[in-house]
Formats: sequence, structure tokens, C-alpha cells
Amino acid sequence: MSAVRLNFSHGTKAKHLARIRAARSVSRITGCRLAVLMDLQGPKIRVGSFKGGEVRLEKGNSFTLTTSQVTGDASRASTTYEALPHDVRRGSRIFLADGSMELIVQKVQGGDVLTEVVRGGALRNNQGINLPGTPLRTPSLTAKDRADLDFGLRHGVDLVALSFVRRSKDVEMLRRMVSHHPKPPWIVVKIEKQEALDEIEAILDAADGVMVARGDLGVEVGLERVPEIQKRVIAEANRRGRFSITATQMLESMIDHPRPTRAEVSDVANAVFDGTDALMLSAESAVGAYPARAVEIMRTIAEEAENSAFYAKAFEGFAKIGGFHRAASYAATSAAKELGAAAVISITPTGRMPRLLARFRLSPPVIACSASDAVLDRLSLIWGVVPLKIATARHAERAIEGAINAARASGLIAQGQYVVVTLSMLSGGSEATNVVKLHRV
Ligand code: PEP
Repeated sequence: MSAVRLNFSHGTKAKHLARIRAARSVSRITGCRLAVLMDLQGPKIRVGSFKGGEVRLEKGNSFTLTTSQVTGDASRASTTYEALPHDVRRGSRIFLADGSMELIVQKVQGGDVLTEVVRGGALRNNQGINLPGTPLRTPSLTAKDRADLDFGLRHGVDLVALSFVRRSKDVEMLRRMVSHHPKPPWIVVKIEKQEALDEIEAILDAADGVMVARGDLGVEVGLERVPEIQKRVIAEANRRGRFSITATQMLESMIDHPRPTRAEVSDVANAVFDGTDALMLSAESAVGAYPARAVEIMRTIAEEAENSAFYAKAFEGFAKIGGFHRAASYAATSAAKELGAAAVISITPTGRMPRLLARFRLSPPVIACSASDAVLDRLSLIWGVVPLKIATARHAERAIEGAINAARASGLIAQGQYVVVTLSMLSGGSEATNVVKLHRV
């Protein structure tokens, strides 16, 4: 694995802190870099709790969702979302428990939303509520998210995922909240609502990376739309030099079984063919019976997919427009292909250039050289990037020499091979990569 996701919808801060420490310590012991991604709960709406922990909703029965704090039963349940009676109206559809149950609103009376059960089932404590097609007035960052974010920043998380993002303004607000930090984490937007798809280009521009959060997305927009949206969002992210994570139910059957289904294997490989940077496991590794096996199997499926001839074709012809970084990434990868280079070495203070290089899916590695551990840890999430620590050097020639020596010492390149080095020679205060140097080791 290359990253750990901490889902702040579950668990206590003490447990999350123990996991951050465990990840950092394993990373130190093994020498494998691990990015720590904190996933903010966002405005996830839930039901309260029930007598006995669970109730059965029967088709055709009445069921009330109320903002009053009550212990639920088969006729009513409380909700954590105070604005629910204001946001819905007669005819609004309400989904429960990942879309497995459906209610239709009959009437709103004060703090009570009276509904009819269209599709019933077993409803358990704290399960989720989705309101597809209903604009919510809740802010994208709740009071809990702000407190969690503060905690995450204090403990040096590498990435922050914003759940239920709806507008680029949501991302800009989070950016302002993290930017004061000495090592601001990268922002990952979780695409799980139609409103986000309506503004996808501006949202990607504002973010560093994107997660195709197929669980809630499938409930909000309809399961049958998920495959097309996955392809479109990943392609759009790649064009813009944003990394992507494909998430949810990738090897779901491995929660209980030691082998995945053929359909799951195809799903993992197809996400790789679509151009995703990272594949995510949820319950499989969090609570499943075969967590390490699930990671190993996912890895072998990804490697097999990447080795196929079909794979390389997917990454031809990205847009080559806009800015020094983009132009330099295009020049460096074309030169590397022309020379048959053993690696592209990117000397990077921020990690931005390796991300742009990665979208071309070159077969030689992109060696990201930086003096910053924080930058190197998060780069482990990016496809094909090998993070490598170097000392800070004042002069460009020294920096190139340091990076090449480090890559040689790690066995990544050898004497006589060609490499392409990218770096920034400061001019006019710009940090953008503006040098592509061709080099024979
Ligand atoms: C999802 O909905 O697919 C997702 C990744 O979000 P979470 O696991 O936080 O529900």
C-alpha cells in the first residue's frame, strides 16, 4: 500500500492518532513512504438510534423522520440534520442505508417529515440518509469537520479529502483554512453529488486530486451512471494534471472471502485502464477478514493491467497547453521517449511537477527528488513516482548532481544510461519548473 485513509465518519480522535503513529512508524521501519489521507465526514446525514439497534421498514407503511431527539422504532427515527424539514417537500425522495431503502415525502409538519416507505428493509443505528435531487442548505464543512481538520493539521496529515463537495467555492474555503499551515496538505475532492458533476472542471481546477467516491455517488445519481462518470472524471483529472483515486466496493466480497469475484477483478483492472492513480479499499482492509490479502491481490491485478499493451494507448494525446510546468512536463516526457531514458528525475520543492509528469504514464519511473519528507510522503500516492530524499542545494548544477547521485545510489539508474532532469532555475521569483536537462549518467 502507498497511502492510509482515515475515515473521520467513524472512530475517535484517539484511535485516528494511534493509526497515524502506526503508519509513520511502519514507514520508518520499512523505508516505504506512506501518505496519510484524512477523510472529513462532511455533511453526511444520518438517522439516530433505535430500540434494539435495528428496525424493519415495510413497504407501504408510514415512517417519520424527525429533528426531535427520540429513540426510533418502526414508525419513526430522529435525524442529525436540523434543516431536513426545510429542504424537502411533498414528493421528495429519501434514500436510507446506501440507497437500499427508499421513502417518499407525504407531508412536512414542523420538525417532522412524514413519508411512505417505497422500498423497505432493515434500518440500523446511524445509517446514512441521501436526498438525491434535493439541494441541501448545510455548509460543506460542518463544525465537526473544522474540529477534525484542526486535529489532522496538528498531526501532520498529508492529504485532506472533502466529502460531498458541491462547488469550487467549497474547495477554495478549505484551501484558505489549510494554507496557513507550514506544510499545507493536498486537497482531494470526493465526487459524490450531481451538483459536483455540474461544476466538475472548476472543482478539479481548485483541487489537487479527486476521489471517485462510488458509494454515495451511486446512491445520489443512480448506480448505472457510475461507470461513465468514473471514466469522465479520471480523464478530466488527468488532462488537468490532477491525481485520482477510485474508491468503494472494489474487492467487496473479500470482506468475507479469501478470493475476489471475477467482476471485482475486472473492476480493479478497468479503473487502472481508465487512468486512476490510486485504488482504494474500505471495509475490505478496515474490518474484513483478509486485509493484507486484499491489498496484495489488488496490487497484482493493477500490475497485470499496467503490463498489457492495451494500457499504454490510454495515455496518448493529453492537452499540451498552458504554463511552464505543463510545457516542461510535455517536453521532458517526449525527450525521455526519444532517448529511451532510464528515468525522468524531477527536482521538486512542492511535488507539483511529478504529478504532471505522471499523467503521461511513461514506462521508466519519475524519480521525485525533494528535501521535504512531507512532499515525498504524499507523492507515494501518485502513479509511477518514486520519492527520493536529497539535500537542499543552492545552485542548479549542485542540485542535479545530488539528484543523480542519489538515484544511482538507490540503484534506479546506472552509468551510461540517459536521464531527463527537470528543475526550476529561479528567475523573477517564479518556482515553476523551467529547465529540462538531458543527461548521460
Ligand atoms: C464513497 O461514498 O464511495 C466514499 C468513499 O465515502 P465514505 O467511504 O466516506 O462513505
